[in-house]
Amino acid sequence: EALRWLPDADQRSALGSELQSIPDDPTDTATSSYGHDDERPLVLVADDNADMRKYVVRLLDAHYRTEAVPDGEAALAAARERIPDLILTDVMMPRLDGFGLLQALRADPRTSGVPVIMLSARAGEESRIEGMQEGADDYLAKPFSARELLARVTALLQMTRIRRESVVAIQASEMRFRAFVTASSDVVYRMSPDWREMRHLQGHNFVADTHKPSAQWLQEYIHPQDQAGVLAAIDTAIANKSLFELEHRVLRVDGELGWTHSRAVPLLSANGVIVEWIGTATDVTRRKRIEADLFAALASAEKANQAKSDFLSRMSHELRSPMNAVLGFAQLLQSGTPPPTVLQEKNVVQILKAGWYLLSLIDEILDLSQIESGRLTCVLEPVPLAEVLDDCQALVEGQAQARGIRLNFPQKDHLCIVTVDRTRIKQVFVNLLSNAIKYNRKGGTVQVHVETAGRGRVCIRIEDNGIGLSPEQLGHIFEPFERLGQEAGSIEGTGIGLALSKGLVELMGGRIGVDSVVGQGSVFWVELDAPSAQMSSHPD
Ligand code: ADP
Repeated sequence: EALRWLPDADQRSALGSELQSIPDDPTDTATSSYGHDDERPLVLVADDNADMRKYVVRLLDAHYRTEAVPDGEAALAAARERIPDLILTDVMMPRLDGFGLLQALRADPRTSGVPVIMLSARAGEESRIEGMQEGADDYLAKPFSARELLARVTALLQMTRIRRESVVAIQASEMRFRAFVTASSDVVYRMSPDWREMRHLQGHNFVADTHKPSAQWLQEYIHPQDQAGVLAAIDTAIANKSLFELEHRVLRVDGELGWTHSRAVPLLSANGVIVEWIGTATDVTRRKRIEADLFAALASAEKANQAKSDFLSRMSHELRSPMNAVLGFAQLLQSGTPPPTVLQEKNVVQILKAGWYLLSLIDEILDLSQIESGRLTCVLEPVPLAEVLDDCQALVEGQAQARGIRLNFPQKDHLCIVTVDRTRIKQVFVNLLSNAIKYNRKGGTVQVHVETAGRGRVCIRIEDNGIGLSPEQLGHIFEPFERLGQEAGSIEGTGIGLALSKGLVELMGGRIGVDSVVGQGSVFWVELDAPSAQMSSHPD
C-alpha cells in the first residue's frame, strides 16, 4: 500500500518482486513521455504483473506511445476513453480477464476494430487457438523475446494500417460511385452473373426503382414483345463475357411504354469469372418517337410522290386518246381527197365531240388540282334543296330519256334548306345522277331519297338498280381515273367525276359515300349541313 505513494512506477518496480502480488491502482498507468503532438501509434498494455507491464512498455516506448493498465476493466475504460491503435493484453487478470476484455472490445463498435495481441503463460497450440477464436489478432506465449514482441506489434500495426487505408479507399470509391449514379440522368442497375436476379436499380423517375434483389425484373420492366430479344442479347453477352447493348421497350414508372438504350458490362474476378453486371439505361423515348414520326412522314411523302406520278401518267394517257381523235379526223379533212360531204360532217362531229370532252376533262383536272392545293374556295350559302334538285333533274332528264331510264325524285315542296355552294353542289348531283343513268340497266330506275341525318344534317341518296360495284372497286371508287369496265380515254366518262365530287362535298363540310352490291345496283349518298333539317324528314 505504502509503495503506491511513491511518485512513479519506476521507483516502485525498483523495490523488487513483491510488487507483483500487490494489485495496482487502476489509475496507475505508465504512459510514454512524448508530448501531445506525438503521432506515433498508441499501444495499450494490460497486465496485472507490474514487472511485465514495465518490461513491455519499455520495449515499445522507443517506437510507440504506450499506456499501461493492470486489468481488463481498466483496459476497457482506457480504450473507450482514448482508442488505441493496438492492445497487448495478458489472459489471466483480476476483475476482467483477457478473453472478457476481448469480448467487450469486439462488442463495442468504437473498439471492435482495434487489433489485439494476447500474451499468456499458457503456451501451446490449444490456448493459441482459443485466443484466436475469441477474436484476438495474434497470440504470444510467455516467455517471449523482445524482438519477437516488437516484430509482432509492428507487423500487426502495419497490417491494420493497410487494412484501414484500403477500407478508406473503398469507401471513397463507393462514395464516388454513388455520386456518379446520383449525378447521372441514366438508369443504373446491377445484375447477378446469370442475369436471373436484378440486384439493384435506380430508375431516375423513368422506370421504377428496385432496392431489393428481384427475379421478376423481366416481367416488371421489359415489354412482353421485347423479352425474347433481351434474353437472347443477354445470352450472347454472358457467353462472350462482353458488353450487353440493346434498344428495347420498357414499362415506365408512369405505366406508359417507353424506349431505352441499355448497356451493361461484366465485372470479372481475378480468374475471369463474371461476378456481376453493371449497366446503364438511357431514356430514348423521345428520339424513338421522332424517328417513328419521321419514318411515317417519309413513307407518306413517298406515297404522295408515287400518287402524283401515277396521276400524271394516267392523265397524259387520258388526254392522248381524245387528242388523237381530234388530230386524226382533222388530218382526214385536210388530206384533200374530196370525201363525200356526209363524211366531212361526220368528221367534224367527231372532232367537236372529242374537243368538248377534252375541255371537260381539262376543267375537271383543273378543279381537282385546285381542291388538292387548297386553292378552290366554295361560297357557302343557304340554298333550298328543292331548287338544287329541280335544276339537276332538268339537266339529266334528256340523258335519262335517251337511255330509257326512269327518274324518281321526292316531293320537293317539303325539302329543307342546305348550306352549300350553289353551283358546285349541282355539279356533284349532276355527276352522281348521270353516273346512275350511265351505269344502269336498260329500263332501270334512278331513285332519289332525302332523309334527315341528325344534328342539323340531311342525307341525299341516289339509288340505281344498275351494274353495281364490287367491294374491291368500292375501296378506290373516289380516286381519280378509277374507272371500271371502260377503256381509259373512252369518251363515255372522264374518271374524275367522283374524285371531284368527293373533294367538293368535303369542301362544303359534307360527306359522301357509297353502298353497292355487284349486279344489284348502287346507292351514292351525300350528307350536307341543313340547319332546319328536322322538318325535312321526307321519304318520298
Ligand atoms: P366517269 O366519268 O367514268 O363516270 P366517275 O368518277 O364519275 O367517272 O366514276 C368512276 C367510275 O365509277 C366509273 O367509270 C364507273 O366505273 C364507276 N361508277 C360510278 N358510278 C357508278 C354507278 N352508279 N354504278 C356503277 N358504277 C359506277
